Amino acid sequence: MITALATAGLGAAVAFRARDDRMEAKPMAEAAVDLIVDRVAKVFPGPQGPVTALSPTSLKLSRGSFVAVIGPSGCGKSTLLRIIGGLETPDQGAVLIRGKSPEQFRAEGELGIAFQDPALLPWRSVRRNVALPLQVLGRRVADHAGQIDALIQLVGLAGYEDALPSQLSGGMRQRVAIARALVTEPSVLLLDEPFGALDQILRRAMNVELQRIWMKSGATALLVTHGIDEAVFLADEVAVMRAKPGRIAEIIPVPFPRPRDPALMTTPEFHEICDHLAALLGEAGDEA
Ligand code: ADP
Ligand code: MG
Repeated sequence: MITALATAGLGAAVAFRARDDRMEAKPMAEAAVDLIVDRVAKVFPGPQGPVTALSPTSLKLSRGSFVAVIGPSGCGKSTLLRIIGGLETPDQGAVLIRGKSPEQFRAEGELGIAFQDPALLPWRSVRRNVALPLQVLGRRVADHAGQIDALIQLVGLAGYEDALPSQLSGGMRQRVAIARALVTEPSVLLLDEPFGALDQILRRAMNVELQRIWMKSGATALLVTHGIDEAVFLADEVAVMRAKPGRIAEIIPVPFPRPRDPALMTTPEFHEICDHLAALLGEAGDEA
């Protein structure tokens, strides 16, 4: 246990570790478990033979928690997220979200997903892009007009409701994608490197914004990121993945109270956790 956590006295309360194919029974957080990844594995065909994208991997997220996933390129982060989102089928194992399959959960509009590429429809305005998941679910957009505009405001884009994606900066487009992921008021939010294409300053601003939006939404969040500082700033727990075969090697609790201020990033306690994670990633053979 690293000193910052021991000092805060919170490490043991929230820590559990997923190692290889089994879950070690450490005390779980008191909150209800929202999402269970149970020994999920996936092999893809590759040019030099099969690639084990994920060896049996387990993870639990408690309701309303924020978990970040970090790890070297190709260690299976996106595969894990896609399986949790029901966009990829595991070869083995299962995912249960509040007792339902990901497909069922997604069909009910309870799953919000955002990727690195905001993938907005270029001919649709901000408002109509944000509304898209409602239409996919067959809901009447007119019934949700107030909620759509409130969300656009929440992500700081008030006044841009009728703008087209081509009229927005990269950061603004990413915020549209986040508003779109939230429009069905999902109880679980899956984010795959949503700020990966942004510069450092914008990324910091988006981190603060994401914390605010997530706290307001009450959703359970899983964020894949390359940024150690982003993971530590946002998450209650950071899952460190390793490659060959892809798996979760360690779960590190982050005990800082919320809301977290960007000034937290300048504290020794923050750096201590970042250094610890960097060392774990170093062991994992991260190409950095
Ligand atoms: P990460 O997101 O951590 O970079 P991915 O989950 O995207 O990793 O990929 C894990 C491994 O699985 C990589 O070796 C990748 O090449 C392989 N892989 C992922 N998706 C596919 C696919 N659809 N077909 C074949 N190989 C894939
Ligand atoms: Mg990825």
